Parts: sequence; C-alpha cells; structure tokens
Amino acid sequence: EKTLRLILGDQLNHHHSWFKEEQENKIYVFMEMRQETNYVVHHIQKIAAFFSAMRNFAAYLRKREHKVLYFSINDKGNKQDLAFNLQQLIKKHNFSKFEYQLPDEYRLDKQLDEICKNLDIPSEVFDTEHFFTSRTELTRFYEGKKELTMEYFYRYMRKKHHILMLNSKDPEGGKWNYDKSNRQKWKGEADIPPEKDFSKEISGIVEEIEAAGIKTMGSIDAKKFSWPTSREEALSVLNYFCKNLLVHFGDFQDAMHTKEAFLFHSRLSFSMNSKMINPREVINSVVDYWHEHHEEIDISQVEGFVRQILGWREYMRGIYWKEMPGYAQRNKLQNKAPLPQFYWTANTKMNCLHHSIKQSLEKAYAHHIQRLMITGNFALLTQCDPNEVDAWYLGIYIDAIEWVEITNTRGMSQFADGGIVATKPYVSSGSYINKMSNYCKNCHYDVKKKTGENSCPFNSLYWNFLDEKREYFRDNQRMKMMMSLLDKKSSEEMEDIHTRALSIRENPDNY
Ligand code: FAD
Ligand code: SF4
Repeated sequence: EKTLRLILGDQLNHHHSWFKEEQENKIYVFMEMRQETNYVVHHIQKIAAFFSAMRNFAAYLRKREHKVLYFSINDKGNKQDLAFNLQQLIKKHNFSKFEYQLPDEYRLDKQLDEICKNLDIPSEVFDTEHFFTSRTELTRFYEGKKELTMEYFYRYMRKKHHILMLNSKDPEGGKWNYDKSNRQKWKGEADIPPEKDFSKEISGIVEEIEAAGIKTMGSIDAKKFSWPTSREEALSVLNYFCKNLLVHFGDFQDAMHTKEAFLFHSRLSFSMNSKMINPREVINSVVDYWHEHHEEIDISQVEGFVRQILGWREYMRGIYWKEMPGYAQRNKLQNKAPLPQFYWTANTKMNCLHHSIKQSLEKAYAHHIQRLMITGNFALLTQCDPNEVDAWYLGIYIDAIEWVEITNTRGMSQFADGGIVATKPYVSSGSYINKMSNYCKNCHYDVKKKTGENSCPFNSLYWNFLDEKREYFRDNQRMKMMMSLLDKKSSEEMEDIHTRALSIRENPDNY
C-alpha cells in the first residue's frame, strides 16, 4: 500500500507517532499555497515564519530518511490549492491511500472532508497528538451547565493531568488561582534580560514571497529574523523563558511599556501553535524549573503561566469546536463601523494605540493586554464590525490561527458572542491604560480629562459605549456597578460625552 501523508503548516509535530511506524511506502507532503497565504492579508513575518518552519521540519524528516515531497510557493507544479495538488500527486505517484491529521481550523477540516469524499482511494484521519483535550472534551465537560466559566474547566484540567497538584484534589500552594497578585505596572525596577535573538538570515524565503506577489502587511528584517522556526530554536526560547523571565511572568503579565515589547512574556505561541513544541513539555519544563528553584520563584508566577496554557489555550480550542461554524457570524452588539485606517499604519496621536500597533507591524507581536485592552478595547468602544476586527488580528500576529484568534477576538475581546467566553465586555476608559502602562505620559491627549478638546478619547468612548449598548448589559451582574455609575451622570455630562464620542467615531483617523 503506497500512502500519501499530508502535513499542514501548523502540524510540525516532531514526536507524532506517524514517524515511529514502519516507513516503507509512506510519503509525506508539505505545501506552501496561495490558498493559505491569501485567505486574509498576513504579516510578512508570519508567512516567512511558517514557510521557514515547514522547510526546517521537512529537512529534519529527510535527514531521518523519511520520504518527503515539498511544494514551495513558486514551484511550477504547485497549483496553489490543496485539492488540485493532492489529486495531481495521487495520480502521478499511484498512491493507494491518503492520510492526514485533524486540522485545527474549521475551514480546512471541511475542505479535507470534501477532498476525501471525491478521492478514488481510501483515506484515514489521525489526531495531531498535540493538545491535552480532544475537539469535544470541553463540550462534554460543560454539558447541562448554563455558564462556561473557564475557571472550572481549568481546575478539572489541573486535576485530570495532575499539574501543580499536591494530591488528587488539593492545589499546590493551597490556592487554584493567584491572578490577584499578578497585576503590577512595570517601572523598570526588575531588569529584563535582552530578547533571545537568533538573528537568522531568511532573505531567500522573503524574496520568494515577494516574487510570488503575495500581498502582506508589516515589516521584516530578513537578515536578522528573531522568531524560532525549528524545534531546537523553540526549545531554546523555552529554556530562556524558564531561566530569565518566569521569575516575574505573573507580576508584570498585564503591564505595558513604550520601551519593552515583550516584558516577561514567553513568546512561545508561534512555537506551540505550529506544534514545533508541545504544551505538555512547556508546562513540564516550567513546573520542573520552579521545583528546582522554588526559593527564588513564587508559585504565583508559575500558576499564572500554567493557567494560560492548560486553561485558556485548551478552553479556546474547545469553545471553537463547540461553536463553529456559527461563531464566525456572531455580532451580538450589532457593531458595524469599519476598522480605522491607522490599524495598518500606526498613524494616530493616541500614544497607546500608536505604540501597540507600531510594535505589531514591526514585530508581528503584541502581548495579551495590548491586544485586549488597547487595540481590542478601542475597536469595541468605536463599535467596529467584528469581521473587520477578526481579519486584522488573523493577519497581523505571528501566532494567529483561527481557532485561537477568533475565540479571543470575537469572543473575549469584542463580546460578539454575547458572553460565551467573557462574562462582561473588556472595555475601559483611559485610567486603566494609565494604571498599567507609561503610554499616557507622553500622549497628545490628557488621560485625566473626560470630555472636550484634548481629552483622552477612551474616556468619552467608554461611557458612550455603555450608554448606547445599555440594553445588552441591563441584566449582567458584573456590569451592575458601572451601569449604576453611568446612571448617576448628569444629562449635561452625558451630552458632552456623546458629542466628543460621536466626533471620534465619525472620524477616528483624525485622532
Ligand atoms: P505568554 O503571555 O507568554 O503566555 C504563554 C502562552 O499561553 C501563550 O504562548 C499562549 O499559548 C497561551 N495563552 C495566553 N493567553 C491565551 C489566550 N487568551 N488564549 C489562548 N492561549 C493563550 N493567541 C494566539 O496564540 N493566537 C492568536 O491569534 C491570538 N489572538 C488573540 C487576539 C486577541 C484580541 C487577544 C486578546 C488575545 C489573543 N491571543 C492569541 C492570546 C494571547 O494574546 C497570545 O497567546 C499571547 O499574547 C502570545 O504571546 P506569548 O507567547 O508571549 O504569551
Ligand atoms: Fe491612550 Fe488616552 Fe493614555 Fe493617550 S491618554 S495613551 S489615548 S489612554
């Protein structure tokens, strides 16, 4: 039986059981395709990183004497579409079986289903052997429950996988969650060791992307590319994180600073989402490192990190498969405004947005709070269409793959799912941004001023949003305090708020 095995760009799992079996007559295929580079405009670094990681993995397999076929983006025989390429290969090489791994994206899942139905040869699908959970585990966990609170799922995961547990029911340290101690502003007091930098030359790949005429966004320094694109590099980022950053991960998880893009964040999302490294080995390394250094590192740093991966990451995967395809159409608050142009240029006087977007365009990266409380917050306060917001997040970030992008963007950040992922909308006025960052210090706008010229746009937009959307939040317990503060505002103040908010919403690119 001559078998063709497909490996998608985000299925670079070195330890998959496929590679441990008898390899006679098994041939692996990788494809760089326009269907993947074109479904949204991606950051140049994202495309380059995926191609580079795919090529490195293909080379790794060849070195171990696996048989590999590789379609690079400008290959003559590459028809740029999965179905065409597969049919052509099966015919040419006389394959008698087709095998693939479960895609993490709904779009590709459906496409592969369809392709297999139309093949003349049998096909079989395998797990990717990457996640802790299957596609349906979360759905089963919440069966019969009204609310899908992440915390309960997280505790179940901790117990099930025995992570940070003293025994089968008690958490290490006596608490499940140390979130409250993880909320500090960074004022330069804890030194940040310089970024782990590979300074790789990837000019060849960038030239190929350009020659193919692929439309991209953002910039790249092709002579000094610093994202890990091989398993060794990914592991060295993980080691570097344990040694240098874990000690303050939780403390400054929500902090933002004009001079520090990464602060104490791990930058492991691309390595995990492409499956070069596995969430189990990430968690094990971090927990082991902590056990060896528990006198220097507080449990709150470690728990905060484990929660992101064992909790949020698996939770988002489960929500995606529970809610798709309907999720991609959700727009509970009926928001319709276009995303401001400055999301593609960083050309705005609002310093927080300018910095977060400039950094995203330069590095294909922003950390969670920049995504949620700066760009996401502004998009929601100005009532942008979730389709436009999703397309931007799906394109700009190195780690953006729909299963984890859409649940975070449409769900957590834009409240377009009506409260499945987040129990209340993540919106704030300028005071939260001022509390967690140094952005306001040199801003054109005055964060203390509520309305009128030079007032921080987030201030009027915030109260205006709550007022305009009040019908959606009337019964939301977690919004009670804010709604009653809103109700106490005088009609004159509300008038000023509306005037200022309206002028910003009418032309956000003027601000
Ligand atoms: P760290 O802060 O070091 O966290 C460690 C790991 O935890 C991350 O690598 C990631 O795998 C996981 N993690 C943390 N938060 C989340 C979360 N909310 N959901 C799922 N996993 C999480 N993450 C993506 O991987 N891809 C996306 O496309 C994506 N889009 C987002 C869009 C919005 C609007 C928001 C608010 C968040 C988004 N996130 C996304 C989640 C989070 O912002 C990134 O995972 C994180 O910033 C990646 O950087 P890091 O590896 O340095 O993370
Ligand atoms: Fe952003 Fe307002 Fe602060 Fe300026 S003053 S940085 S617009 S929050």
